[in-house]
Amino acid sequence: MAYIREKNPAGQACIFETGKDTTHEKKGLLLYRDDLVLVLLNRFPYTNGHLLLAPSRHVGDISALSPVEGGALFAMIRESVVILRRHKKPDGFNIGLNLGQVAGAGHPEHLHIHVVPRWDGDHNFMPVIAGIGTIPEHIDNTFDQLLPDFQELLAGKNN
Ligand SMILES: [Zn+2]
Repeated sequence: MAYIREKNPAGQACIFETGKDTTHEKKGLLLYRDDLVLVLLNRFPYTNGHLLLAPSRHVGDISALSPVEGGALFAMIRESVVILRRHKKPDGFNIGLNLGQVAGAGHPEHLHIHVVPRWDGDHNFMPVIAGIGTIPEHIDNTFDQLLPDFQELLAGKNN
């Protein structure tokens, strides 16, 4: 799998602490949060629908994860793939994590997993979706599209 280079403006606070006491927050692109795991829409997407999954606890290394947190993260990978397939109909996915700055992690202090939907030939139009001015609308629309599905997961858990 190709490295996913992440952007992190210097001095930025941990993006995974956004909406700490809520289950979702549009401003922070938070699609889902429970006690164990959270899902953000990546503000600097590789492709449309690029998600970041993280433990709700602020931990940087995979060895610090409890088995329960690890299980919740993997379960959320599964749910994310199902939801993205439903709405975005990708031809495939890149799923992975960068551990440490040297490996390309833009937020090494908080472990996160990239779920990146891929389409046949998408590398040809990636420069287009990376164009300034097109991303915010993309992200807003995608957020609105995916939010109900992620919140439905939460409702299912509380029942
Ligand atoms: Zn954090």
